[in-house]
Amino acid sequence: MPALQDSTRSLPGIGPKKAALLEKLGLRTLQDALELYPRDYDDRTHITPIAALQEGERACVRAIVGSTPELRRIRRGMELTKCTIFDESGSIGVTYFNNRYYAALLREGQEYLFCGAVQGRGRGRQLISPDYEKLSPGACGHIVPIYPLTAGITQRMLLQLTEAALNAAEGKYPDFLPGHLLAQYGLPPLQNALRSIHRPETMEEAAAARRRMVFEELFLLCCGLQRMKGKRLEQPGLRFEKIDLDSFWQALPFPPTGAQQRAVSELAADCAGGHPMRRLVQGDVGSGKTVTAAALCVLAAQNGFQAALMAPTEILAAQHAQSLAPVFRALGLSCVLLTGAMGTAEKRAKHAAIASGEAQIIIGTHALIQKGVAFSRLGAVVVDEQHRFGVKQRTALRQKGEMPHVLVMSATPIPRTLALILYGDLDVSVLDELPPGRQPVQTFAVGERMRQRIYQFMEKQILDGGQVYVVCPLVEEGELPLKSAEQHAQALRQVLPHRRVALLHGRMKPPEKDAVMTEFAAGQTDILVATTVIEVGVNVPNANLMVVEDGDRFGLSQLHQLRGRVGRGKKQSYCIFFGKDKGEKARARLKILCGTNDGFEIARADLAQRGPGDFFGQRQHGLPVLHVANLASDLALMQSAREEAERLLAQDPSLSRYPALRERVNRMFSE
Ligand code: ADP
Ligand code: MG
Repeated sequence: MPALQDSTRSLPGIGPKKAALLEKLGLRTLQDALELYPRDYDDRTHITPIAALQEGERACVRAIVGSTPELRRIRRGMELTKCTIFDESGSIGVTYFNNRYYAALLREGQEYLFCGAVQGRGRGRQLISPDYEKLSPGACGHIVPIYPLTAGITQRMLLQLTEAALNAAEGKYPDFLPGHLLAQYGLPPLQNALRSIHRPETMEEAAAARRRMVFEELFLLCCGLQRMKGKRLEQPGLRFEKIDLDSFWQALPFPPTGAQQRAVSELAADCAGGHPMRRLVQGDVGSGKTVTAAALCVLAAQNGFQAALMAPTEILAAQHAQSLAPVFRALGLSCVLLTGAMGTAEKRAKHAAIASGEAQIIIGTHALIQKGVAFSRLGAVVVDEQHRFGVKQRTALRQKGEMPHVLVMSATPIPRTLALILYGDLDVSVLDELPPGRQPVQTFAVGERMRQRIYQFMEKQILDGGQVYVVCPLVEEGELPLKSAEQHAQALRQVLPHRRVALLHGRMKPPEKDAVMTEFAAGQTDILVATTVIEVGVNVPNANLMVVEDGDRFGLSQLHQLRGRVGRGKKQSYCIFFGKDKGEKARARLKILCGTNDGFEIARADLAQRGPGDFFGQRQHGLPVLHVANLASDLALMQSAREEAERLLAQDPSLSRYPALRERVNRMFSE
């Protein structure tokens, strides 16, 4: 009998060709097959009488073949094989498309279990290409696992492989999860769970097995992350001896919110602790994250270090520099702005100030991580809108200093538990409170037939002294039906010829963008038609209406971010999403935004709808890939897994009492 470590080729019927295909699924050994869990199950335990079959459902019937399957050629390349089957309640036709060999094996007068989709009504009712199997007399149906497939690999092969793997594992696969956790969470032991997840007898059994595998995966992940964090906390870091926050609070133009105070004391404690800080501040748009960034910069400067604040766009960097300048000035700290758009001479002067240490706080764009930039004593870095940067860029900034304290900021608020996992070994502060006096933005999703009314509404807002953003999705080459930002601007200039319409898009040069933005901020333009370059940070309190074209093209969290550009002043603000008139799903999505201004709630809905892959972008967090756990729906287990991992590692940091567990953690993090 083949062993778990054996290659799939040790099984009969698997040669080099099939083995290569299996490798595409990640299957090299039987062990791999053991860990390839079904993506779904076909529940064949419920048998429906033929008379009760409903159009459109997928069902299993136990029936006798009433006629020999007949082959008919409809046209070139299209064959049908048809027969009739019956049970005590009635009869139904069966049709196979281009599958005559499978159909031909059905024997007239024999009883089978057929599972497939029901199509048509009345006399036209049929089962379409059902799977069938012979039943031993008296046997009832069972549950068939459905494995993920790749071209050339069939379910039957995977059934055979997993069967062999299960047999090889029998008795040789001790559980690596601590026994007390199994007991506490009611999880089946590994050996049972493996059998149940591959060959469940009931759907409940399959669900219990999956729950164990999800817990296991999350627990391994959390153990690994916790260990990384433990290692970081063993490293010595810069110790900021002097923590004077009072003067900072006084220099701010407004009293801080409770949440800002909490986040700032958390990061101050990190900096004073003598280990390198890695902290994420997450908070909804407008929650005032910039204040926490400024606090870290001030602490660094007060302790004789430099601080760097990196923002994703020129506009945003400039705005930070501008709004924070009075605060830093009041504290007697020097601050410079460095962006890619600056002229060579200006850049050179700034580089010199940064290298000499004369510049204490440096705000900038990607320009900060260029080769020519050398800091004299970089002690703290902040990455604003961190999702706009890749792992490499974030690391590059950190490496400009020697173990500086690191703060990253994210405006995609996600549940804390999830953040703790997704952002790996970071600590998390949450700004869950908006500054006082914000009015919720009134939000509407509308169809194309409202367009004229919306134009009138724009006009009314401008008459009342407001300004308008019109946001358009990026148009990629070869995409026809969408209008570009240019076309929208043209259209608006025709409908509202007396209004000043400006255009802002990503292909413009930074100085042009700046000019357009500055004019808009100064109230010299009424309508700014833009692509998503305005998504982050821009602050024009007088703008109180945002119209988003093709709203269904954006993710919910992104729309929420966009909406955060209005509602910043005293006037009531509005956000209007144009969506397709049809497409109920798209409209339902937009309705979520109309119903709430709470970014956490929106992120949760977004995550549930799109799944974590799309939501977070291509593995930008750099964590091990999860195969079973679903980051959107397994939150409760995630919470438990994290708490238990923390508890276990607190008692046994190197997992010396759990060698099998340690080995699995290592394996997960080495992949
Ligand atoms: P975020 O980056 O979290 O979206 P910002 O830091 O840009 O938010 O702050 C949004 C706006 O709120 C800014 O105009 C800022 O000056 C203002 N603000 C921040 N904190 C407070 C506060 N405690 N009280 C009043 N206004 C504040
Ligand atoms: Mg911000």
